[in-house]
Amino acid sequence: MNTDPVARTPQPQSRLPRVGTTIFSVMSALAQEHGAVNLGQGFPDFECDPLLIDAVTRAMRAGHNQYPPMAGVPALRDAVAAKTEALYGHRYDPDREITITAGATQALLTAILALVHPGDEVIVLEPCYDSYAPNIELTGATVVRVPLTPGSFRPDFERIGAALGPRTRAILVNTPHNPSATVWTADEMQRLAALLRPTDVIVIADEVYEHMVFDGRLHQSVSRHPELAARSVVVSSFGKTFHVTGWKVGYAAAPAALMAEFRKVHQFNVFTVNTPVQHALAAYLADPRPYLDLPDFYARKRDRFRAGLAGTGLTLLPSEGSYFQCVDYAKLPAHRERTEAAFCRWLTTEVGVAAIPLSAFYEAGFEQCVVRFCFAKREATLDAALQRLREALQQRAD
Ligand code: PMP
Ligand code: GLN
Repeated sequence: MNTDPVARTPQPQSRLPRVGTTIFSVMSALAQEHGAVNLGQGFPDFECDPLLIDAVTRAMRAGHNQYPPMAGVPALRDAVAAKTEALYGHRYDPDREITITAGATQALLTAILALVHPGDEVIVLEPCYDSYAPNIELTGATVVRVPLTPGSFRPDFERIGAALGPRTRAILVNTPHNPSATVWTADEMQRLAALLRPTDVIVIADEVYEHMVFDGRLHQSVSRHPELAARSVVVSSFGKTFHVTGWKVGYAAAPAALMAEFRKVHQFNVFTVNTPVQHALAAYLADPRPYLDLPDFYARKRDRFRAGLAGTGLTLLPSEGSYFQCVDYAKLPAHRERTEAAFCRWLTTEVGVAAIPLSAFYEAGFEQCVVRFCFAKREATLDAALQRLREALQQRAD
C-alpha cells in the first residue's frame, strides 16, 4: 500500500479500455514458454539479403545518421514512385504524395488520425488486422464492422453498400488479406469503385503483402484504378517485402490533398524515420528482382506447407496471397468442439506448433473452427512443425 502522501499516481481514464496485449505477442510468448515452433505471429525466421545489410552499413559509414527530411529521404520516395508507376501505372509525385513511415502500423494510424473526425464512421471488413479498430476509436469515430462473406472471406458489396451512410468518412481495405489470405480481384475493385462513386469516402488501402500474390494473380492495388487512387491512401511495408519486419519502415502514398493532412500528423508523430535504412532501401530498390521474385519464393513455401498437411484431417483454405495459410479443424472429432483459442493453445502447448485463432480478428470473437499459420519460415522450421502436426493429428484408418 502506498503510504507516501505526495507520491500518488492518478488513475488514468483509458482511451482504449477494451484493449489488451495483442494476440501476436500472447501467442509468441506462449510458443517461447513451451518451445513450440512459432507459426503464429507473422514474421520470417530467415535472414534478409546480405546486400541490404551492406547497404545499411554503407549508409551509416557515409554519414547518413542525422534527421532526414520530414517526408523521407528523397531517393527512397523517388524509388517508391518509380516502382508504383512501373507496377500499377499510377504516378505519385514523390515531393507531395509519398511519405516514408515507421512501418505500416504508423502509416495506418497517421492516416486515420489525419483524416477521421469525432462522430465519423469508418468501415472495416471483418476479420481484420487488429490495429484498425483501436486506431479509429482513438479519433472518436465509430467503427462500423461489415463481415466478409463467411466461409469464402470475399467482400460482400451488398453489406458494404448498406453500411455506407452520410457519416461514413473512410473504409479500410486490405488485400492480400490478413488473416484469410484472400486477394481481391479486379472485378471486386470495380465494384468498390462503383459503390463509392457517389460518396466522399476515403479508402485506406493496407497493401503490405502486395508482393506476395500467387498463381499468376495480379495484386489489385487501388493505385491501378484511377478512380480509387484519387480517393485512397495506400500503405505498404518494406518489413514484409524484404524480410526485415524489425526495421519498421514503410510508406504511405496518396493524392496531394490527402497527403498534406497526413504529413501534418506525421510531423508531430514520428517527425522522421531511420535515415540509414532509408538510404539503404533506396539503393536496394534499384534492382526489382527481390520483390518480383517474391511470389515464387513464397508460393514454394506455401506449397510445401500445404502438401505436408495432407492426411492431418485439417481442411486447407485457399491461400491466394500473403504469407498465411488458414486451416479449418471442424472435421477433427476430437477438436471441433474446442474454441479457436483453445485449439491454438492446445496446438502450442501440447503439439508444439503455435497458430493464431481467427476469432482474434473479430470484435465479437466469431467462432468458425479456423486458425492461421504463417509459412514465412525456413524449410527446416516448416518441416519440424509439419512433423509435429502430423504426429498429433494423423488420421488413422482404424
Ligand atoms: N497491416 C497488416 C495487414 C499486417 O499484417 C501488418 C503486419 N503486422 C501491418 C499492417 C503492420 O506492418 P508493419 O510491421 O510495417 O508496421
Ligand atoms: N502482422 C503480423 C501478424 O499478423 C504481426 C504483427 C504484430 O506482431 N503486431 O501476425
